[in-house]
Amino acid sequence: MFMQVENVYKSYNKEGGFFYSGKLDVLKGIDFSIKEGECVGLIGESGSGKSTLSRVILGLEKPKQGSVIIEGISASKWMKENRGGMSVVFQDYTSSVNPFFTIKNIIAEPMIMAGDKKNLHEKICALLEKVGLPSTMINKYPHELSGGQLQRVCIARAISTHPKFVVLDEAISSLDVSVQSQILELLHKLKHEMNMTYLFVAHDLQAVANLCDRILFLHKGKIVEDLASDELALATNDYAQRLLNSVMPLCIGKNKCNLNKNLPPLQVV
Ligand code: ADP
Ligand code: MG
Repeated sequence: MFMQVENVYKSYNKEGGFFYSGKLDVLKGIDFSIKEGECVGLIGESGSGKSTLSRVILGLEKPKQGSVIIEGISASKWMKENRGGMSVVFQDYTSSVNPFFTIKNIIAEPMIMAGDKKNLHEKICALLEKVGLPSTMINKYPHELSGGQLQRVCIARAISTHPKFVVLDEAISSLDVSVQSQILELLHKLKHEMNMTYLFVAHDLQAVANLCDRILFLHKGKIVEDLASDELALATNDYAQRLLNSVMPLCIGKNKCNLNKNLPPLQVV
């Protein structure tokens, strides 16, 4: 799974009541690539366009300009040829599941859509165990589970089709800190077991730095920095440096901090 995001632009109409009040340019020429088996973090403030970029990659929204190429063909063609090959875990686990569905039906849905209809019960029990849940949960409903348990169900659903590529859009942001680290561990384990490629979207740099090999900083519609997570201290862009300063002196990565301490730290929201 090799993905190239090429020169992607995306704008929305600004809300202006009765009057058209122009365009909001969210993505202004995004370029990057993700190699097979890599875990890439995408960091940026709230409203910087991370989810918009994720939706464009997932084919849920069309870019105004530019393209997403997977294994040499357009992402839409790749997705038709590889049913279930790409999946997503959203931040809001409550609204991303149907409250009237049992856990079994929630996980079964994408499997059936991808044409996998045999031995569903056994396969779903195995998936629950893979994400650290007892298989006895299979007949429960979403409201009977905790937030962390429900997000594990969403992860089970996302991996049920054996995807090559998984987008995790703020997948741990709504969870308690202790649950966040458990889910990060699970994601780390699954990535290696299933040889998946991740795009891990977050506004919290610390969460990303431990899981990801590389980090992209999205600011004002552009990728302003693209660094290996053990080389974050080499950031030269002002925005990336300020963001790093706000979580340093933890000094993520192997290198010593060599950041410009005169820049004010950013408010991380
Ligand atoms: P992030 O995920 O980084 O918080 P988003 O991609 O959700 O950012 O949003 C980026 C900007 O685009 C925000 O200003 C948001 O209000 C705007 N936006 C996102 N989706 C839409 C939409 N469907 N229609 C209009 N504006 C949108
Ligand atoms: Mg978002």
